[in-house]
Amino acid sequence: MVAALTGKASWPDKKFILVKKQKEMMVPCGIPYIFGTLDNTTQNIMPVDNMLEKAGIESLVDEVTKIDTEAKTAEMASGEVINYEKLVIATGSSPVKPKWLKGGEKENVFVIPKNKIYLDDMKARLASLKKVVVIGAGFIGVEFSDELIKHGHEVVLVEKLPDILSLAFDVELSEKIEEILVNRGVKVITGNGIQEILGDKKVEAVKLENGEIMDVDAVILSIGYKPNTKLAKESDIYVDESGFIAVDEYMRTHVKDVFAVGDCAQKRDFVTRARVATMLASTACAEARIAGMNLYNLNVVKTFSGTIAIYSTAIGNTGFGTAGVTEARAKAEGIDSITGTFEGIDRHPGNLPDTHKQLVKLITAGHSGVIIGGEVIAGLSAGELTNVIGLAIQNRMTVNSLLTSQIGTHPCLTASPAGYPLIKAAEIIASKTKYH
Ligand SMILES: Cc1cc2nc3c(=O)[nH]c(=O)nc-3n(C[C@H](O)[C@H](O)[C@H](O)COP(=O)(O)OP(=O)(O)OC[C@H]3O[C@@H](n4cnc5c(N)ncnc54)[C@H](O)[C@@H]3O)c2cc1C
Repeated sequence: MVAALTGKASWPDKKFILVKKQKEMMVPCGIPYIFGTLDNTTQNIMPVDNMLEKAGIESLVDEVTKIDTEAKTAEMASGEVINYEKLVIATGSSPVKPKWLKGGEKENVFVIPKNKIYLDDMKARLASLKKVVVIGAGFIGVEFSDELIKHGHEVVLVEKLPDILSLAFDVELSEKIEEILVNRGVKVITGNGIQEILGDKKVEAVKLENGEIMDVDAVILSIGYKPNTKLAKESDIYVDESGFIAVDEYMRTHVKDVFAVGDCAQKRDFVTRARVATMLASTACAEARIAGMNLYNLNVVKTFSGTIAIYSTAIGNTGFGTAGVTEARAKAEGIDSITGTFEGIDRHPGNLPDTHKQLVKLITAGHSGVIIGGEVIAGLSAGELTNVIGLAIQNRMTVNSLLTSQIGTHPCLTASPAGYPLIKAAEIIASKTKYH
């Protein structure tokens, strides 16, 4: 949708057609909230058709089954064939249900696809099921657990790694987030994966890797997504060894006039340059805008330079976010880093209503002072503050640029200019280095 909208805005004389398999599309990031805060899937529908119509883009509900890159045609399941000048593949991703997981086919084992019909059925079935185990404590698993608690389910969140959200946060922050989740009633088990789902026809229990058996009524698997690249592969568009469509910085595939964006397209980490499987709506939309702007003319400065992996979420009125690499990730990748952590408050004076603690951890490359990561636990401002850190990373700002930066403040809206956690964290780094 974003590729089409940006494409049409950039090339208004061209005709744009969006082909989508599903008539009604979910806001993907809103899906966990269907199971707690929102009443139903209808409240989470994306107004795709409205936006397309306003922009003068034609929309077809159909499935592209074949792309002929020589003849430049896309063939639909309905039999219709569309001729194209330029083609953008944005086939997305689907949830993983691993083949090794015994019992995965039982009734009341769920994955989380971006599919309204599936989610309607899942919501209806979960309503009568009390004890739910969520497998995988990434952002989606954490959000689901917190939402299910709101609906009165007993929730156990199981994570194989030693900490929840440990790919996104360093351990001292993960532990704080886990504490918040536990205080809201979620039982968290870490360092233990699922081995088998037990029961006759329906789920009755799960067996964990340590042999523990836990009685449960439903299992939700949130252990990752795989790119949908069958169509590309079958159309001889190069798909890499990890299953992503190979693209360059303009989001071009190796086939002339064919672009790929979003979860199905290959990604590199902005900092480490390593290939990563990060799947985010924010990354997808940035890639889509870049493809749209470069469709008919390569605008040499509008390129995608790697995913900064900016995630944020909230549990109650605590927001947390992360951008770039964690300290642990930097170490694993061989980057010598220096960090600074500062905890302040997000209002001044702190007696104002709704004042919340604001913790910022900044990660910089040791030899240059370039900001390569940041983690935030705060009030609901955490999302935008994480975005600011993302911009600092993308623009290769240094500790010095933060030390000299001007930030706007207001008692009801921000931390005090005298104790602004982002700048205080930079000061802590400066005090450990020669960058001051
Ligand atoms: C529960 C959940 C919560 C999330 N929360 C966040 C969040 O808070 N922030 C964030 O940044 N990201 C979040 N994400 C990730 C985000 O949703 C994805 O990165 C994003 O949806 C990727 O967009 P996409 O367009 O590449 O793929 P998709 O959203 O997967 O869309 C691909 C579309 O293509 C259609 N399609 C596939 N094949 C064909 C075909 N052959 N013909 C026609 N149509 C086809 C599919 O039906 C689908 O509608 C979340 C994901 C989930 C599942």
